[in-house]
Formats: sequence, structure tokens, C-alpha cells
Amino acid sequence: MIQTAEKEAAADVVSFDAGEEEFHSEKIYCANCIHCKLIPAKPEGETAYVLRIRCAAGKWKKKLGQEKMYKYCTITRRYLDSCDAYGEMGDTREFLRELRKTLPGRDEPYTLPQDDGD
Ligand code: SF4
Repeated sequence: MIQTAEKEAAADVVSFDAGEEEFHSEKIYCANCIHCKLIPAKPEGETAYVLRIRCAAGKWKKKLGQEKMYKYCTITRRYLDSCDAYGEMGDTREFLRELRKTLPGRDEPYTLPQDDGD
């Protein structure tokens, strides 16, 4: 299952980068799953944050077992044939259509507001 997820994701990057914004009605899109979480991450040595997505059900793993996260801008590329932990949050096609309107096209850095002590 895990290897399938990574293969699917890698294969989808190709079609996405080619400008195809297809919708596969037979697939499960992680973006529309309750376990797909958006989190800020700060790369080592950097001051700015980047946005990452993680599977809170623990389905995304690297070869050695560590958790794998993906860039937020790739979230619509994560789809699977099946997932036993999938928790649909609504109509997938409509959700993806709205998400793609605001999704950044690349990995963008963010700075968090400073706490001024008030
Ligand atoms: S539980 Fe399955 S469908 Fe949901 S985010 Fe994780 S891998 Fe994707």
C-alpha cells in the first residue's frame, strides 16, 4: 500500500507538470481525506516556513520507515487506487476544483507573525 502511494504520487507528478489537471473519478484523493493534514515546517538552517502535508493515519513512509511528507503545492497529485483509512470529507471533484483555485504553484516560503508580547 505504501509503495503504491509513492509510485502513484511520482507518476502523477509527471502528468501534473505536463499541465494536465485531470480528475480520476475511480481514484481516492488524499486531499479530500480527513487524515491529510497541512502543517508548517522549517527546513534546517532556514528562517522561513514552508507548507507540508502529512498523512495522520501514518500511510506515507520512506523506505526506512520514517514519515514522509509532501509539499503542499503537490496535494492534488496524491491519489490512490484504495486506502483502508480513507475518510472522505465531501464531494471530491468539487473540493479539488475549489482547492486548485488557491493552491500555490510552487513551494512558497512563509514567515510567521512575530509575538510582540501584547
Ligand atoms: S489515510 Fe489514505 S487516503 Fe487518507 S491521507 Fe492517508 S494515504 Fe491518503
